[in-house]
Amino acid sequence: MDLGLKGRRALVCAASRGLGRGIAAALAAEGVSLVLNARGAAALDATAAELRAAHGVPVVTVAGDITDAEARAAVLAVADDPDILITNAGGPPPGSWCDWSRDDLDRAVGANMLTPVLLMQACLPAMIARGWGRVVNVTSSSVRAPIPELGLSNMARTGLTGAVAGIARQVAAHGVTVNNLLPGRHATDRIAALDQARASADGISEDEVRARARAGNPTGQDGDPADFGAVAAFLCSRQARFIVGQNILVDGGGVALTM
Ligand code: NAP
Repeated sequence: MDLGLKGRRALVCAASRGLGRGIAAALAAEGVSLVLNARGAAALDATAAELRAAHGVPVVTVAGDITDAEARAAVLAVADDPDILITNAGGPPPGSWCDWSRDDLDRAVGANMLTPVLLMQACLPAMIARGWGRVVNVTSSSVRAPIPELGLSNMARTGLTGAVAGIARQVAAHGVTVNNLLPGRHATDRIAALDQARASADGISEDEVRARARAGNPTGQDGDPADFGAVAAFLCSRQARFIVGQNILVDGGGVALTM
């Protein structure tokens, strides 16, 4: 299927590794020019070089913390009113509600709620003016079913979900769609770090943590960031123009819901 994305320009945040990288690769495969962001320049440049070589599309990198106002302005200046915006950033650390400091709360809300909203505020006006645009926010399955040890994530991402529910319906008449993609457990560095934390908290091996997690998923597997990226690319496609303001779980059925 031709997704109708050849020649479009995308900003993909937090894209040197993991889910962001999966999305960048899927868009590059469709002929989309990319501006990629992450904090660490070395991994970011290596990812950019691999995508350029594999797909022959222009890939520009801007290293910086997307949650920081100055760095975000630099990223947006280079991205120059993209057709496609993928918001993403690292997730909050695990912990319990009784231990959260004010700084912890501010950081989680800043990274996983306010940063995507600020990015949308920056990018939506030009999309509206052009009459075409796509925004995909990487959130989490935790907005459908809270994950006890990731309370900061539950909180911040649910706030973003509420904001998107309104924004998406206010821009849809201009050919602009905004949707959220909700990953369940995917095999990335973030999950490896969370498995490590769980293993030491429970006094079991990381292999045992992984085995239990996979056994708890209907597919018996972890998700693949490349597949996740392909779903995001479809949400950006010409054909997805009638998908508006949705929260789409990509979790192997891990969150048990009737609808
Ligand atoms: P990951 O493997 O750790 O990769 C994170 C990527 O984001 C890296 O490229 C990292 O590069 C970049 N990054 C992190 N913080 C950033 C920041 N402040 N500014 C710019 N770039 C930043 O993580 P992931 O598993 O792909 O997760 C992506 C998002 O999905 C996270 O918010 C995570 O909580 C959420 N999520 C993941 C899963 C899962 O199973 N993987 C499930 C649910 C939700 P640098 O470190 O160099 O900046």
